[in-house]
Amino acid sequence: MSKVTGSKKATQFTESVIREMTRLNDRYGGVNLSQGFPDFPAPDGVKDAACAAIRADINQYAVTWGARPLREAVAAQFTRRYRLPIVADEQVTVCCGSTEAMMATMLAIIDPGDEVIVFEPFYENYGPDAILSGATPRYVTLHEPHWTFDPDELAAAFNENTKAIILNTPNNPTGKVFSRDELETIAALCRKWDAIAISDEIYEHIIYDGYVHVPIATVEGMADRTVTINGLSKTYSVTGWRVGWTISPPSLTGAIRKVHDFLTVGAAAPLQEAGAAALALPQQYYLDLAANYTKRRDALVEILERHHFTCYKPHGAYYIMTDISAFGFGDDVEFARYLVKDVGVAAVPGTSFYNNAAAGRTKLRFCFCKRDETLREADRRMEKLVPAGVKLRS
Ligand code: GLN
Repeated sequence: MSKVTGSKKATQFTESVIREMTRLNDRYGGVNLSQGFPDFPAPDGVKDAACAAIRADINQYAVTWGARPLREAVAAQFTRRYRLPIVADEQVTVCCGSTEAMMATMLAIIDPGDEVIVFEPFYENYGPDAILSGATPRYVTLHEPHWTFDPDELAAAFNENTKAIILNTPNNPTGKVFSRDELETIAALCRKWDAIAISDEIYEHIIYDGYVHVPIATVEGMADRTVTINGLSKTYSVTGWRVGWTISPPSLTGAIRKVHDFLTVGAAAPLQEAGAAALALPQQYYLDLAANYTKRRDALVEILERHHFTCYKPHGAYYIMTDISAFGFGDDVEFARYLVKDVGVAAVPGTSFYNNAAAGRTKLRFCFCKRDETLREADRRMEKLVPAGVKLRS
């Protein structure tokens, strides 16, 4: 048999369905409520800082693990907000987006056969991350409608092979914000089984209804066993810049930095400078961000419910998981294709977020990081949608 083939690893996962939906959307000229990126401008001050950095000729490699001003800003912001002292030189590594930050972390800590616990539904990258790093994933269900987990089910997923648990709060795709109590349950198990928490907190500032973001690193006994992942993308609406970072205990930083270095060398130098400017924005910026997203969330929930979707109202992040059973389609993929092709709105099939396909087949994820007019246009197009069993008026 020919050896001119992809690796076994590469055949174990498919292309990203989220990114594929964007391509389909572009082909059919749809309204893209699939891949989560804003269609409104990034803050002027942040853009100006990037242009200024390029003009000032910050155009060569930054230090591999990140330009000092950005690393210092990340450490200072986390220290100030959460009163957990972070030392930039020992703990912060800048990567090409939180996607690379997650991959570099997994490659840095996983040995083949190590188990990694993943809450399901999950952001689709975590599946391939586990395969590429050689981890065996173990899934623990977040039960709708409130996306709660059963502490006994979680406890049963831990064993002596458990190397890490991947957390994402505020959560994509469910909008769940893990409570301090829930994090303490997780933390107790991490301590008991000597496991690492890898916590993707990219939606830290996109949070609603008085919910409060708690980094698991701040839970007792977790600072030394948590890798916190974050980035500029969502907070500053610059998903195309690809600037993210890890905050790790010093014991793990060396491994993460080595892997990161050989994966990508470093993130774009001028954009790291702009990142430092972004992190210096006043508190009002974050308040406005959350307030504006609250309005968008409410607008899209109202639109989707009017068009017969059952919505799981999110408390954080910028996605709405919906139940599509009312439409009588065979499955989520069939419905998503119909929606983008014939209705002109792109969303992400639920199965992309599940290992247990049966749970995903009845679901579709929409994002609302979009201008009012974009959401209104989606509303207008969805007038075409009719739930099964409902007769069209003639
Ligand atoms: N996080 C975004 C989403 O879930 C997409 C990120 C990406 O495509 N890299 O849609």
